[in-house]
Amino acid sequence: MTHKHRATWAAVFIAAAIGCGSPGPEQEMEVRRNWAIAIHGGAGHFGEEDLTAEQQAAYTASLSAALAAGEEVLQQGGNSVEAVETVIRIMEDDSLFNAGRGAVFTAEGIQELDASIADGFTRNCGAVTGIRGYRHPISVARSVMDSSEHVFFSGHGAGAFAAAMGHEPALDEWFFTEKAHKRYLRAKRRAAKSDALADKKGTVGCVALDSQGNLAAGTSTGGMTYKKHGRIGDSPIIGAGTWADNRTCAVSATGWGEYFIRTGVAQDIHGRMLHGDESLVEACRNAIFDEMGELGGDGGVVALDASGTIALVCNSAGMFRAWSSPDGRGVSMFGTTLEGTVEVQ
Ligand code: ASP
Repeated sequence: MTHKHRATWAAVFIAAAIGCGSPGPEQEMEVRRNWAIAIHGGAGHFGEEDLTAEQQAAYTASLSAALAAGEEVLQQGGNSVEAVETVIRIMEDDSLFNAGRGAVFTAEGIQELDASIADGFTRNCGAVTGIRGYRHPISVARSVMDSSEHVFFSGHGAGAFAAAMGHEPALDEWFFTEKAHKRYLRAKRRAAKSDALADKKGTVGCVALDSQGNLAAGTSTGGMTYKKHGRIGDSPIIGAGTWADNRTCAVSATGWGEYFIRTGVAQDIHGRMLHGDESLVEACRNAIFDEMGELGGDGGVVALDASGTIALVCNSAGMFRAWSSPDGRGVSMFGTTLEGTVEVQ
């Protein structure tokens, strides 16, 4: 199966509003994009007042650099899976985010990483959970997809598979950062209370549409600070944190994983589009606000459909995100509120 001759294009209507609430019919225009990409660096209850100007500048620079690497792959005709892996590898090396280097610590004070990737053309996928000692969990997940008869490896098995596939090992010192460790110590102090898991943000994810019309998605994370040993969040679970199917959408989620699993957010968005004829934006809103949010969860998704509609939807106060297409690029962190404002492009 070659990457050429993949999906055909279908012109659809897309919402072209950024950060201005519900896009009404008057805001819709017919667009078909040659390529598109959206990334996130985690969601959480943070507003402008919670980040210094320096921190905001650092996040903007990191998001923009990772986005640029993905843009380059897509502009040069590379495929969407490649773009997703390229972006996430960069974010895994960036200690600003909770993935790879800089990942959060479990209650036992170690770093157990999760990642998944999905190809919208083949509808194949790969994932690892609780992996330790490998620098790029997203690349191990890609190997699971491309080079194994399975789709999901955990713990020691994931490590053994990574070793057999020749993935780059990394010592604990590589993943360690003061910031994540302090967060762990804070959570440990709070552990007697029930809000130890509340400190969470920095998961990374990417969705991409390539010039052949193919979608892909990937997500990588350390999970939630102070998670129990063996806890698995939504990020490595195909259908909860990650999804790609050329017929509908590519989705990468971030937020309180238990709630994303309970409502199968990524696959809920897909199902709404496939069986319920909802648009990408409608499906994302309904899955986030009406389903996951109604249960009490928080977080968001970055998503694309096969025509290049970009949806950046969250019910948390903030979500680090960036997006790009031939129509332009942007980076944002705030502006999406608990009241339900939705950012879409
Ligand atoms: N969804 C991730 C998890 O629950 C955490 C996050 O996205 O912040 O493991």
